[in-house]
Amino acid sequence: MNTFRKYCSPFSFNQDQLEFDFKSKKELLANKFLQSYFSHEGFFRFAIDVKESIEDEIILMAEYENGHEWWVVGFLKNKNHVASFPKAKMKRKCSMCEKDAFAFHLEYRNDFCKKHFEEIKKRVKKDLK
Ligand SMILES: [Zn+2]
Repeated sequence: MNTFRKYCSPFSFNQDQLEFDFKSKKELLANKFLQSYFSHEGFFRFAIDVKESIEDEIILMAEYENGHEWWVVGFLKNKNHVASFPKAKMKRKCSMCEKDAFAFHLEYRNDFCKKHFEEIKKRVKKDLK
Protein backbone atom coordinates (compact mmCIF):
# COMPACT_ATOMS: atom_id res chain seq x y z
CA MET A 1 0.00 0.00 0.00
CA ASN A 2 1.12 3.51 -0.80
CA THR A 3 -0.47 6.97 -0.82
CA PHE A 4 -0.31 9.72 -3.41
CA ARG A 5 -0.85 13.33 -2.41
CA LYS A 6 -1.12 16.03 -5.05
CA TYR A 7 1.23 18.99 -4.87
CA CYS A 8 -0.66 22.28 -4.80
CA SER A 9 1.58 25.03 -6.08
CA PRO A 10 0.88 28.42 -4.49
CA PHE A 11 1.07 29.83 -8.04
CA SER A 12 -1.49 27.46 -9.50
CA PHE A 13 -5.17 28.17 -10.01
CA ASN A 14 -5.90 24.50 -9.54
CA GLN A 15 -5.90 24.13 -5.77
CA ASP A 16 -8.13 21.04 -5.61
CA GLN A 17 -6.78 18.69 -2.98
CA LEU A 18 -6.24 15.11 -4.02
CA GLU A 19 -5.03 12.21 -1.93
CA PHE A 20 -5.59 8.52 -2.53
CA ASP A 21 -4.21 5.08 -1.68
CA PHE A 22 -3.05 2.64 -4.33
CA LYS A 23 -1.88 -0.95 -4.37
CA SER A 24 0.00 -1.03 -7.69
CA LYS A 25 1.73 1.26 -10.20
CA LYS A 26 -1.10 0.50 -12.64
CA GLU A 27 -3.66 1.68 -10.09
CA LEU A 28 -1.69 4.86 -9.45
CA LEU A 29 -1.43 5.70 -13.16
CA ALA A 30 -5.10 4.91 -13.73
CA ASN A 31 -6.03 7.94 -11.67
CA LYS A 32 -7.77 10.65 -13.72
CA PHE A 33 -5.46 13.43 -12.54
CA LEU A 34 -2.31 11.48 -13.45
CA GLN A 35 -3.86 10.28 -16.71
CA SER A 36 -4.30 13.90 -17.77
CA TYR A 37 -0.50 14.35 -17.91
CA PHE A 38 -0.19 11.94 -20.83
CA SER A 39 -2.03 14.43 -23.05
CA HIS A 40 0.18 17.40 -22.07
CA GLU A 41 2.26 18.76 -24.92
CA GLY A 42 5.86 17.56 -24.70
CA PHE A 43 5.15 15.10 -21.88
CA PHE A 44 8.04 12.65 -21.66
CA ARG A 45 7.52 10.47 -18.58
CA PHE A 46 6.88 10.28 -14.87
CA ALA A 47 9.95 10.00 -12.67
CA ILE A 48 10.65 9.92 -8.97
CA ASP A 49 13.07 11.93 -6.92
CA VAL A 50 14.21 10.23 -3.77
CA LYS A 51 17.18 12.45 -2.99
CA GLU A 52 15.11 15.59 -2.56
CA SER A 53 12.41 13.94 -0.52
CA ILE A 54 10.81 15.93 2.19
CA GLU A 55 10.17 14.13 5.45
CA ASP A 56 10.71 10.67 3.95
CA GLU A 57 8.24 11.29 1.17
CA ILE A 58 9.15 10.62 -2.43
CA ILE A 59 8.50 13.26 -5.05
CA LEU A 60 6.64 12.24 -8.20
CA MET A 61 7.72 14.43 -11.10
CA ALA A 62 6.46 14.86 -14.64
CA GLU A 63 9.29 15.24 -17.15
CA TYR A 64 8.83 17.11 -20.43
CA GLU A 65 10.99 17.75 -23.49
CA ASN A 66 13.06 14.59 -23.11
CA GLY A 67 13.70 15.40 -19.44
CA HIS A 68 14.86 19.00 -19.80
CA GLU A 69 11.80 20.39 -18.12
CA TRP A 70 10.13 19.00 -15.01
CA TRP A 71 7.36 19.76 -12.60
CA VAL A 72 6.41 18.35 -9.22
CA VAL A 73 3.21 16.32 -9.50
CA GLY A 74 2.86 15.15 -5.93
CA PHE A 75 4.25 13.13 -3.08
CA LEU A 76 4.36 9.41 -2.38
CA LYS A 77 4.32 8.15 1.18
CA ASN A 78 6.84 5.33 0.57
CA LYS A 79 8.63 3.32 -2.11
CA ASN A 80 5.96 0.63 -2.51
CA HIS A 81 4.96 -0.03 -6.14
CA VAL A 82 6.97 2.91 -7.50
CA ALA A 83 10.49 1.43 -7.62
CA SER A 84 10.20 0.86 -11.39
CA PHE A 85 9.78 4.57 -12.12
CA PRO A 86 12.94 6.12 -13.56
CA LYS A 87 14.88 8.45 -11.29
CA ALA A 88 14.33 12.09 -12.22
CA LYS A 89 17.46 13.37 -13.98
CA MET A 90 16.48 17.03 -14.00
CA LYS A 91 18.64 17.66 -17.02
CA ARG A 92 19.32 21.26 -17.89
CA LYS A 93 20.56 22.76 -21.11
CA CYS A 94 23.60 24.98 -21.46
CA SER A 95 22.53 28.62 -21.59
CA MET A 96 24.94 29.24 -24.48
CA CYS A 97 24.36 26.23 -26.71
CA GLU A 98 22.05 23.23 -27.15
CA LYS A 99 24.20 20.79 -25.15
CA ASP A 100 23.23 19.28 -21.80
CA ALA A 101 24.45 21.37 -18.91
CA PHE A 102 27.50 20.21 -16.98
CA ALA A 103 27.27 22.60 -14.04
CA PHE A 104 25.52 25.64 -12.64
CA HIS A 105 27.76 28.70 -12.36
CA LEU A 106 26.96 30.62 -9.18
CA GLU A 107 28.19 34.04 -10.27
CA TYR A 108 26.56 33.88 -13.69
CA ARG A 109 23.42 32.26 -12.25
CA ASN A 110 23.22 29.99 -15.25
CA ASP A 111 23.82 26.44 -16.50
CA PHE A 112 26.69 25.69 -18.86
CA CYS A 113 28.05 22.70 -20.74
CA LYS A 114 31.62 21.65 -19.91
CA LYS A 115 33.18 23.77 -22.69
CA HIS A 116 31.25 26.93 -21.84
CA PHE A 117 31.70 26.37 -18.11
CA GLU A 118 35.50 26.40 -18.64
CA GLU A 119 35.21 29.55 -20.75
CA ILE A 120 33.16 31.30 -18.08
CA LYS A 121 35.63 30.22 -15.41
CA LYS A 122 38.47 31.83 -17.41
CA ARG A 123 36.38 34.96 -17.95
CA VAL A 124 35.74 35.27 -14.21
CA LYS A 125 39.48 34.92 -13.47
CA LYS A 126 40.25 37.69 -16.01
CA ASP A 127 37.64 39.96 -14.47
CA LEU A 128 39.28 39.54 -11.06
CA LYS A 129 42.73 40.61 -12.32
ZN1 LIG B 1 27.47 25.23 -24.08
